[in-house]
Amino acid sequence: MGTPCGICAKHRGEGPLVGPLLFADELVVVTHRPLSKGRLPGYLFVETRRHTAGVADLGDDESRAVGWAVARAARALRHELAPEHVFSAITGRTWAHFHQHVFARPTGTPDEIPWFGADEWAGAPILDDAGLDQLCARLSPYFGPPEQFP
Ligand SMILES: [Zn+2]
Repeated sequence: MGTPCGICAKHRGEGPLVGPLLFADELVVVTHRPLSKGRLPGYLFVETRRHTAGVADLGDDESRAVGWAVARAARALRHELAPEHVFSAITGRTWAHFHQHVFARPTGTPDEIPWFGADEWAGAPILDDAGLDQLCARLSPYFGPPEQFP
């Protein structure tokens, strides 16, 4: 069997990757990163429910679900955080279970900070437990029908 998958464990509500749930259906799961992994507001993961490794492995239905969820995630971050940019990347170097990062670059991040490095900026906004709960309550409606967008 090999090493148990951290993302499958997360979907069962177990382990260090568990973060606040923004959306889930039979194909995809969308969460905010837990504070134990970083305190930057607006760092989301879109994951396939199914344990499958890469973007080339997605079925047509999963591809559509992932694309929809990534677009909704980016829209939510843009509207609620007014970031300088919303980045998205698929790296998959730690867990061979499809997950796409969607994250906000805070406005005012200095140019010398790389696109993936806003966590290291000393001036970056940070979340506490209450702030994370409040942010997730604002982000979740963007995964509903468009007429329910704030
Ligand atoms: Zn897995």
